Amino acid sequence: MKEFKKIGVLTSGGDAPGMNAAVRSVVLSALAKGVEVVGIYKGYTGLISGEVKEFSAADVRHIIDDSGTHLYSDRCLDFKTPEGMAKALNTCKELGIDGIVAIGGDGTFRGATDLSIHGIPTIGIPGTIDNDITSTDYTIGFDTALNTTMKLMDNLRDTCESHARCDVIEVMGRNAGWIALEAGIASGAVAIAIGEVDFDADAAIERIKNLKEKGHRSFIVAISETFGAEFSEAFAKRVQDETGVETKFARLAHTVRGGSPTLRDRLTASKMGKYAVDLLLDGKSDLVVCEKGGELCTTEIKFALIVDRMFKNTLKEGDLDKFTPEEVELMRNICAKKQAAFDDLMNTAIILAQN
Ligand code: ADP
Repeated sequence: MKEFKKIGVLTSGGDAPGMNAAVRSVVLSALAKGVEVVGIYKGYTGLISGEVKEFSAADVRHIIDDSGTHLYSDRCLDFKTPEGMAKALNTCKELGIDGIVAIGGDGTFRGATDLSIHGIPTIGIPGTIDNDITSTDYTIGFDTALNTTMKLMDNLRDTCESHARCDVIEVMGRNAGWIALEAGIASGAVAIAIGEVDFDADAAIERIKNLKEKGHRSFIVAISETFGAEFSEAFAKRVQDETGVETKFARLAHTVRGGSPTLRDRLTASKMGKYAVDLLLDGKSDLVVCEKGGELCTTEIKFALIVDRMFKNTLKEGDLDKFTPEEVELMRNICAKKQAAFDDLMNTAIILAQN
């Protein structure tokens, strides 16, 4: 089995609270096993340019509570080209990097699988506030983003209550509705619009009218950013025109990407970082670390990417050809379970907004 003397760690794609905790865990876990670690700056950009630093334990001291990513992040288009990959492989050769832990989202995992195929064992750790990686129940940063979103919605609720207003709030999450849905429920939203479940705008307006008659003064509507600001602003205008409640549009945007990571994110990042190092040193590669039913496990990156496409309805022709019927069935089951979780939560949200 390959002997690991030195591994690299990078963060890539959108940043997420808890990425630093994951980097710290990778560094400390590797050092504990006598393996050197280099921090690779700006994701795959640093791998191409050789912008790396040998990390000691002191380099990751007191970063567990920091948000953003001290390794910085970048979207590196060059890495997708054969020339970019050749430069990245050359950096690994020159610096003696035997394996890599890549922390990020699905784009990052595409890069990780390319590296694995080219002979650099790579393990992915899911780090994104969006929780939009279908193969795992949880991604690092989600809990912090949820709590921040909930607090910001609570703040808006306070002032809505004083002034008898409605706020239509656009929430991050890229194309995934998890943050809008869970933070919306936690903030007592009267309506939640996400891409995964049909949104009945008329029913939402009816609810606001009914609740107003019952004496409610404040209303929160959470809308996933996937709908776009135009939709949210138009819906806010409809609410105002049809219910007579003064209605404002608010966009939380990147405010929910920052903030010190919650316990959940620090702990998950710490566990996943150590797990990823164990996997690498155990000779594993081309895997993404997942959490299912509270347990850490792995999924092959190629499986994770395709089950993601299946859930997001973006499968391309031939995508399923590389998988056995049993694997395709497993993918369908994973997607059905995810969809059921969305439907159940949305049902809860609507029931709780009746009175
Ligand atoms: P995320 O990881 O959050 O999904 P991106 O989609 O921007 O973010 O991907 C992060 C980086 O991963 C990209 O900037 C690029 O360097 C690399 N990457 C993305 N897609 C691919 C791909 N198809 N092949 C190789 N590398 C990729």
